[in-house]
Amino acid sequence: MKSWASDVQTCGVNANWIAELDQLLGPTSQYPTDLQDIVNTLRIGEMLTAEQGLILWKFTDINLIGHLAHLAKQARFGSNVYFNSNLHVNQTNICTLACKFCAFRRGKRARDAYALTIAEYLSRIEPYQNSIDEVHTVGGLHPEWDVEYYEELFSACKTRFPHIHIKSLSAVEVKHIAEMSGLSPRDLLIRLQQSGLDSLPGGGAEILDDDVRDIICFGKETSDEYIAIHRAAHSIGMPTNCTMLFGTIETVEQRINHLCKLRDLQSNYGGFQCFVPYPYLPDNSRLPEAQLASSSEILRMIAVSRLMLNNIPHIKAYRMNIGDRMSELALHFGADDFDGTVGHEEIMHEAGSQTYLSYSKRQLAKFIFDSNGMPVQRNSNYTNFRRFDDDDDYGNSIILPTLNSVVNL
Ligand code: SF4
Repeated sequence: MKSWASDVQTCGVNANWIAELDQLLGPTSQYPTDLQDIVNTLRIGEMLTAEQGLILWKFTDINLIGHLAHLAKQARFGSNVYFNSNLHVNQTNICTLACKFCAFRRGKRARDAYALTIAEYLSRIEPYQNSIDEVHTVGGLHPEWDVEYYEELFSACKTRFPHIHIKSLSAVEVKHIAEMSGLSPRDLLIRLQQSGLDSLPGGGAEILDDDVRDIICFGKETSDEYIAIHRAAHSIGMPTNCTMLFGTIETVEQRINHLCKLRDLQSNYGGFQCFVPYPYLPDNSRLPEAQLASSSEILRMIAVSRLMLNNIPHIKAYRMNIGDRMSELALHFGADDFDGTVGHEEIMHEAGSQTYLSYSKRQLAKFIFDSNGMPVQRNSNYTNFRRFDDDDDYGNSIILPTLNSVVNL
């Protein structure tokens, strides 16, 4: 069994990925003329421009765009595909906002509104405590919970389950709790970090364009505030993920600009570990004018993200949103992360996701093998990795490829 370590910024990326990509791309002359400048930019490890991003988006042969993204992924990670062992616990569905795309939030007096006590929160984790190393917690903007509630929640969780990484709070939750508590986002994050908060999950980015935000999520943090909150986290050594919700009312240009904003922040601070693009799911929400992303669009979005975000290490196929089968395909279009075991999830399922919630690590490994990948269990911060091997205890009922048949870093 092979294990290895990395650090929170390089996140397991092959240090020689640019030279590797140069080789994998082969001669530029084999690519269509429209893509040759892009291939040349990729092979020297430079960032594509927004205009080049649009060319990729509009290029008709999606398989070729997917192929380029897959090579960019392979250069960094070989055939490795990462997943972790985690649990989602949503602490409350009570929210003072009412984003149009959100099927999860409830008003305080709604029949099915809930707010977990700290004891209830811990009891959700307890049955999984020996099998997970991360709890992922996001929820609504509760009108009464300030920094003290969250300090108590995180420190109780850390005391009871010291081995479990706490990934919690989207940017709008950070903004809300900071305002409730009379603190700057940075000071709030410092206090919560001291109480046990390890990282931010990246939710709440939607589309980083305030004209779109005013329509789909009026009252939420602005684009600049999203970037500033993640900058504040990075400045105190707290890694974060970043996301994009697409397929509502945004244009392709707004999607590409969103990617540019994320990578600009990353160039300065380097704290984003994973980008998670996911399409809008329409059930129980209030956005009839949404475009709804097709399967091809989802795969293209993942591929273009991989090619545009050359400074953000990981691209996730978010199973909770796009499903297991689409996620498997995404592994051929530049995604390298297959999400986690999850166990429980409400936000996407309220909006129509039917992704099964109780897969074992063995079953996740099978999905990855079937897509010709090598499953690698990672910790939350992408600093420790463990590749499955023939003697793994959950390898009994799946046929494992011999390790030397798989591209390896
Ligand atoms: S997306 Fe978040 S902030 Fe918006 S309504 Fe839903 S729970 Fe509230």
